[in-house]
Amino acid sequence: MIVISIGYNNKQLGNNIMILQKTKLLIKIYSVLIFFLCMLVADSRLTLKAYAANIVNTRHQKYSYSEMVTDINELCNKYPDYVHANIIGVTADNRNLYEVVLGNPEAPKCIMIQATAHAREYMCSQLVMRQMEYYLDNYDDEYKDETYHDIFDTVCVHVIPMTNPDGVTIAQKGIKGIKNSSLRKKLKKMQGINNPSNWKANARGVDLNNQFNYKFRRNRSLKKYACYAGYGGPYPVSEKESKALLYVVNTYNPKAVVNYHAMGNVIFHNYKGNKATRKKVARLTSKMKKVTGYSYLGTSPGPGFANYLVRKKNIPSATVEIGMYTTPVPISQFKTVWKQNKNLMAAVAQMYE
Ligand SMILES: [Zn+2]
Repeated sequence: MIVISIGYNNKQLGNNIMILQKTKLLIKIYSVLIFFLCMLVADSRLTLKAYAANIVNTRHQKYSYSEMVTDINELCNKYPDYVHANIIGVTADNRNLYEVVLGNPEAPKCIMIQATAHAREYMCSQLVMRQMEYYLDNYDDEYKDETYHDIFDTVCVHVIPMTNPDGVTIAQKGIKGIKNSSLRKKLKKMQGINNPSNWKANARGVDLNNQFNYKFRRNRSLKKYACYAGYGGPYPVSEKESKALLYVVNTYNPKAVVNYHAMGNVIFHNYKGNKATRKKVARLTSKMKKVTGYSYLGTSPGPGFANYLVRKKNIPSATVEIGMYTTPVPISQFKTVWKQNKNLMAAVAQMYE
């Protein structure tokens, strides 16, 4: 009995020692984990502090649709007197198309800026959002002897910061970013879907910059089927996104329209059409060239939005291509893009006072 009892006690003791050792080990592991957790919290606080100055984050690559929506709301809440947003359409995959109005909406004149008609060129959205925030943050600072406040009081800006949110979602997240199953089913069969970061079209495979009623049928370089780029759609302005752009043009009759695309550090323009409009285009592009330091690259062919505006509506319009070498433009280039474009919106508005 005694022997058995001692044996039993030894076994119990052994078990207790093992439990104690395990507990010590667990405490050590937990301590290390808590330490790293504290470090992470401290680090994220520092990071948050570093970004606290800006609503629009220009330090990360994939500026998304949902991030833009949050930023639009924050800007409107922070500066309710000088900026507001309208929803001017809903895409096939149920994303809102936003028009942000910077300055006095009752201003006698306005200009229009549209960005990211092509999905993979989403840095353009980050840029125009940051431009608006910068002007609002420094509203009483001067640009060319005039405050931003005075400029945008006289000429307000209708900004479409992301013309193609469904396409941007494809370029950033692939086909899984699309919510509508019938759209996903069709997308799966489209040319270019296996390399989504290269995607330019919307979620229906329509290239929104080939959608307008100028040389719509005649351009032979266009694709005849829905795919990642170059297909103009079944007929002009068949897409919700292009309808939204035309709504802004027809409702507000802007003095000029600037289109942000990527890449090349160049300005595309259309010098054909009637003499008066040609003169206006020359004046606009000369200002754009002066501010950005980009070079001219002649006329971009086909039924692009800028060509349509110049030739069919007599509205001066030109296209700025930001960034170099590749699209999506790497975020490492943002600083340079910012320096070249920071004041473009203000400079163009100022032209029409
Ligand atoms: Zn483009």
